[in-house]
Parts: sequence; structure tokens; C-alpha cells
Amino acid sequence: MKVVKLKPGKEKSLLRRHPWVFDGAVAKGGGDPGETVRIESAEGQFLAWGAVSPTSKIRARVWSFDEKQRIDAAFFRAALAISISARGLFDIKSNGVRLVHGESDGLPGLVVDRYGDTLVAQFLSCGTERWKQTIADALLELTGLTRLYERSDASVRELEGLPKVSGWLRGGGDTAVVLQEHSWQLALDVAEGHKTGFYLDQRDNRQAFFEAARHGQWQQVLNCFCYTGGFTVAALAGMRARSEHSGMGGGAGHVTSIDSSGPALAKGRANVALNGFDAGHTTWLDADVNASLRAFHSEGRTFDAIVLDPPKLAPTAAHAERAARAYKDLNRWGFKLLNPGGMLFTYSCSGGIGVELFQKIVASAALEAGVDAFITHRLGGAPDHPVGLPFPEGEYLKGLVVMARPQG
Ligand code: SAH
Repeated sequence: MKVVKLKPGKEKSLLRRHPWVFDGAVAKGGGDPGETVRIESAEGQFLAWGAVSPTSKIRARVWSFDEKQRIDAAFFRAALAISISARGLFDIKSNGVRLVHGESDGLPGLVVDRYGDTLVAQFLSCGTERWKQTIADALLELTGLTRLYERSDASVRELEGLPKVSGWLRGGGDTAVVLQEHSWQLALDVAEGHKTGFYLDQRDNRQAFFEAARHGQWQQVLNCFCYTGGFTVAALAGMRARSEHSGMGGGAGHVTSIDSSGPALAKGRANVALNGFDAGHTTWLDADVNASLRAFHSEGRTFDAIVLDPPKLAPTAAHAERAARAYKDLNRWGFKLLNPGGMLFTYSCSGGIGVELFQKIVASAALEAGVDAFITHRLGGAPDHPVGLPFPEGEYLKGLVVMARPQG
């Protein structure tokens, strides 16, 4: 068994059960890509079993802190079984579920999503790459499914010295799937699009948006960074439920959705049709959000609800300052376009921006926009995207629902 020995004092984060060993902490030792090594303190004390990534700044990722644990097929089967069965403890109103969420599920570098009868996996580290076939077999056995699509095409693979790979790993067939989520359907293609094809992490926040649309008096809704229209569909469903309840009929209310990706917008339109909504109640803009918000402002347009769900602006804390300015700018424009009593659903999926900092950013954006507002809800990732307590980096998605104070 090969050994990775740390420099004096560098064992502290592992003793707190953080699963990463950075290259600067290593005194000597290593292994082949993905090989299991014994990680020791400078004094030779056992710390963990981990997988080596020879070219990455994250030089090793921990599989187990238990010296007696053997890292073998049985280990992966047991870890996957725990992760998958934990999902049964939550009331997930969808057939789209994240079954494995990397470090927070004790399986660093592994993401597995289930969309109906289709599994989609990302093997993002040398360790998961090395155990890919073992993991694939165990996933099929534990879920009873026969189809597993690989989406190991994320850019982090390059940091690991791994090529981008995608395609069927087990089974095959049509890569288009339809998700049944809450009271609506969403189509996606596991071979295309971001992540594994969809943003499951926003599932409960789409439901929160639906509820707000059902209870509010929204006429004009704006969904910025709409991707395939998840929040658009949720708003339309909420407004339809409202009008059915009030007997007014017709599903009053209009949703404007903006994204810079043409293919995502095409899927958004298809999702609106899939749910039987009138396309006349939607507008789709293939445009830059920042420019669109400025244009709306100069046209004097305002909205009753606005979603701001930009891509990751600060992947790590090192990018936080520049990203903070970008978030503030974006939110300032959001507030400027909000009617009194209107609601801003604002998100950050940046690991480098913490909850407190995000709230400060949103507060100063409101101040600069001259809007008096209050927080009504604090949102995060859905429960199938857990955050391991020793791994605060896992808390990437945070959201605030902010209402502009209604006027008397
Ligand atoms: N809200 C979506 C996920 C958003 S992901 C959901 O719930 O499914 C971020 C989206 O922002 C991507 O679809 C990307 O195409 C888009 N995007 C990135 N930069 C943009 C920009 N400057 N203007 C408009 N869209 C942008």
C-alpha cells in the first residue's frame, strides 16, 4: 500500500473530517491516478484512506477515515446503498432525484441523478474514474434500473488530467426524458445541457415560486437566466391554479424569460406547451440579462415577481470580491424593476459567496435602488443535495425571497 505523508501540522483538516488533501500539504508520497493510498501525518499516524489525483491541486480525496476499512467493491456498494436509501427519508415530489451528491455523501467526485428510469452519473475525480465500472454495476443493482448515461464532461475533469467523456455506460436508447415534478412536467435530454441535463437543486424553490404565484396577484413575471424554463412553468402553473380557484379562468399573467442559450430557450418553449399553457402568455428573449434589465428600465417596464438565478459567478472564495460586485449590480437592476409589493427571488450558486455575504449584497443592492424591502423566505438546495457538516463548500446554492414593501 502506497503512503501519502503530510507536512507537520497539515493533518488538522483531516482530523476535522474534511475530505480533501491539497498538494501543498503533502511532504512525500503519491500514487497512480485514482489509486488508493494511506494518508498519514508527519508523525506516521493514520489519518484516512484516499484516492490520489496526481495532477490536481486537490492531491487526494478521502474515501474513509476508518483504518480498518478496505476500499473495494463492497465499500462502494455500501456507500451507494446508504446514499440512495437516505433519499427515501424525504418527501421528494418528483421522479428526478439526486442519488449521490459527491463529498457530502462521502463519495468525493461522484454525482448521480435519477430521471425516471434513467440514471446519469458524473465521475469528476481520478478516484471515481478508477472505480467507474464497480460504481456503475452497484448503481444498477441497487436501483433495479438498466440505463446509466455518463456525463463526465464537466471542466473540472481537466484539473484531474482526465478527458471529457459522455455516452451510455450501461443500457441505451433515447436520451430524452420527461420529469414529473410537483404538478408539472419538464422535458430534458440527458445527453445535452448543463450538469446532468437539469437543475434538480432548485426543485423546492420552483414549488415556492408556484405557491407565491398562486397566492399573489401577479400580472407580469420576469424569469432571468431561465435555462429550460423551470421557474416559468412553475409561475404559469401557480397563476393557472389561482385563476381556476377564483373562477376567473384564462390563467391571467404573463411570464418573460431570458437566457443567452438558444437551445435552452427552445426547450423552455416546449416545456410550456408540454404543460398545456398558452404560448401567448410567455415571451422568450435570447439575450444578455444585464442588458435586458437596463433596457426594461429605460422603457419604464416593471414586474410583480422577478427570478434572478445567474450561473456561478464565484467558484471559490478567491473570486468573491469581483463576483460580489456583479451580484450587487444584477440585484440592483432587479429591485429597480420591482413593483411595490413585488417579490424578488434571488439566488447565488457560488460556493465562494456565503449566506451572510449574499444577504449583505442584496441589502446594499436594495439600498442603492432606493427600494425598501424585507426578506420573506430563505432558500437553499433541496434535501437530496445535502451539505456534509465537515464540508461547508457543499453549501453552494442559497436564495432569498425579498418583497418590496407594499404601498398603502
Ligand atoms: N434557473 C434555471 C437555471 C439557471 S442556470 C433553472 O432553474 O433551471 C444559468 C443560466 O444562465 C444558463 O441557462 C445560461 O445559459 C444562462 N446565462 C449565463 N450568462 C447569461 C447572461 N449573461 N445572460 C443571459 N443568460 C445567461
